[in-house]
Amino acid sequence: MIFSRLLTGITLALAMTACGGTPSEPNPQASQILPTIGSSGGALSNVQAKKLFGAKSGGSRQSPAAFGSYAKGCVAGAQQLPETGPTWQAMRLSRNRNWAHPEMIDFVKNLSVKAARQPGWNGIYVGDMSQPRGGPMLSGHASHQMGLDADIWMLPAQSLTLSRAEREKISSISMRRAKGAYVNSSWTRQHHEVLKAAASDPRVARIFVFPGAKVQMCADEKGDRSWLRKIRPWFGHHYHFHVRLSCPKNARGCVDQAAPPAGDGCADARQWQANILNPPPPNPNPPKRKPKRALILADLPAQCQSVLEAN
Ligand SMILES: [Zn+2]
Repeated sequence: MIFSRLLTGITLALAMTACGGTPSEPNPQASQILPTIGSSGGALSNVQAKKLFGAKSGGSRQSPAAFGSYAKGCVAGAQQLPETGPTWQAMRLSRNRNWAHPEMIDFVKNLSVKAARQPGWNGIYVGDMSQPRGGPMLSGHASHQMGLDADIWMLPAQSLTLSRAEREKISSISMRRAKGAYVNSSWTRQHHEVLKAAASDPRVARIFVFPGAKVQMCADEKGDRSWLRKIRPWFGHHYHFHVRLSCPKNARGCVDQAAPPAGDGCADARQWQANILNPPPPNPNPPKRKPKRALILADLPAQCQSVLEAN
């Protein structure tokens, strides 16, 4: 039920985007009341938050903290993932989105070491994380605002000495076939192992990937299946997978998303697959969707004002 409604309620255009403007899974927790900046932002309160956060070129000199929720928040004391590491490359450096909460920086480095153990992989290519202070972005991504989201390319990292120009130019590769109902021939067992390693990290809350990949992993996993619970089928996400960490332990002012439903989620993924292959008839009375207004500074959690103003 939920899946057919989701599938019919969201346009194909959205489904075509990679991580771009794709919505995250509904996050009822996010509506939990957090004090917002409101009018205390003065003249800036009504300015679009993406213009303010998108203009910051460096992190804030504050102790690290994620504030708000994944699609309405910011990050204090973010760190920048070094462009080059022994087992990773940060991609698309011109975007300046290789910033994150230190927990995420640590996670990415850790995952890159595990990926490098896979045949054919020398590590990982890391796509967008967050802006230097998080917050809404000038383009793409509704989430990635708290320094706890990261996009990892599906293209296995080969060269670890890419120039800046090469990092702009080379593209990841799509893993999907039949509009995401299945994986294509580029998908390998190594992809399974890299996603499994990511999902098995206790800091990870969920991983978004296209439905066909989840169905494939459900079929191929013969051992422990508990990690599959965190693998969430979603639109797009066939050039990269998206890792979302839980709020760091004892974090205040950071709102977690509800945990995924119990179980491995494989039946749901197969239902999603079936709906791609045989789309259910459109709902004759589609729920009215309010056009979303761009976030203004006043909408963001109160702590984000100091994140924006700090040196
Ligand atoms: Zn993403």
